[in-house]
Amino acid sequence: MIFVMRKGATEEEIQGVVRFLEEHGLRAHLSRGVELTIIGAIGDEQVLEPLPLQALPGVERVMPVMKPYRLANRLTRPEGTVVRVGRDTTRTTEIGGPELVLIAGPCAVEGRELLRSIARSVERAGAGVLRGGAFKPRTSPYSFQGLGEEALRMLREVGDELRLPVVTEVRTVHQVEPVARYADMFQVGARNMQNYDLLLEVGRARKPVLLKRGFAARIEELLMAAEYVMSQGNHQVVLCERGIRSFEPATRFTLDLSAVPVLKRETHLPVIVDPSHAAGKAHLVPALALAAVAAGADGVMIEVHCQPEAALCDGEQALLPTTLGRLAADLAAIRRLVNEADYLRPPS
Ligand code: PEP
Ligand code: MN
Repeated sequence: MIFVMRKGATEEEIQGVVRFLEEHGLRAHLSRGVELTIIGAIGDEQVLEPLPLQALPGVERVMPVMKPYRLANRLTRPEGTVVRVGRDTTRTTEIGGPELVLIAGPCAVEGRELLRSIARSVERAGAGVLRGGAFKPRTSPYSFQGLGEEALRMLREVGDELRLPVVTEVRTVHQVEPVARYADMFQVGARNMQNYDLLLEVGRARKPVLLKRGFAARIEELLMAAEYVMSQGNHQVVLCERGIRSFEPATRFTLDLSAVPVLKRETHLPVIVDPSHAAGKAHLVPALALAAVAAGADGVMIEVHCQPEAALCDGEQALLPTTLGRLAADLAAIRRLVNEADYLRPPS
């Protein structure tokens, strides 16, 4: 922790900070400049965190040296984390390894046959995880809310048929148990990124978590949300950039691709990108997906529908299965280039 004293802070105030640090078991390192005095706290910074340091007389600013996310910090696992998704009835898909992971499927599970045909097509395209919403977080309470537990059963059935692990959103603490029973990975949606009770509950479950960035959340807040999950012992967290709100209406959200290399440097957790919700329009999705892989994403999550114009949810951003197939091949090609470019690798 670094304390910057106010210009003209008195010797009494400076010594007050020194005494305060010593009382908390730390040492003070003074650096007296012509205009300002800076005091470095040496020792365990953690004990200072809950204290109102800025309120100490004569203190202008207090700056932490350590990052507030400890478990998610890249330093704790410089080699990176590989998250494994699957169960004994499916293959195991590794997210964060050398291979790019494609997560694909409909926005919402609308029915068994439709899910089956979409799932077959995404499996053919090389998807490693099938997605599909059972509990949909809709802006309007009058919109289709998802088929609930019935959808979970369909996901499981179709996932098992194709040996594909499945991911689905969990919206409330009460849904954690049923979702854990049927799905292989929890999705915590953008609107729930700071639902701390939910984060703690999925942290207590022993299933991987796909944590989406809130559309008004900073990168550090996303990392702190991951920290909540990890604080409960569940370290299998995958982060997802899905666009943030900006003043630009041409896309549904503004895809913050710079978050990808920033996150890769800051954390050992895998990072994926959802270009579908960011774009909001199908024709924009392929370009954003290719760019996401070039930016270093470990995977992409893409919404697919056989008949987008008839979809009950997010049809305007759904890719047709044929487009997904062609895109998937190009995504893999970009991934190979990224893997070879050692100047892109985060420091280890
Ligand atoms: C989704 O992926 O189904 C979804 C609702 O996304 P988000 O939480 O990012 O809006
Ligand atoms: Mn959707």
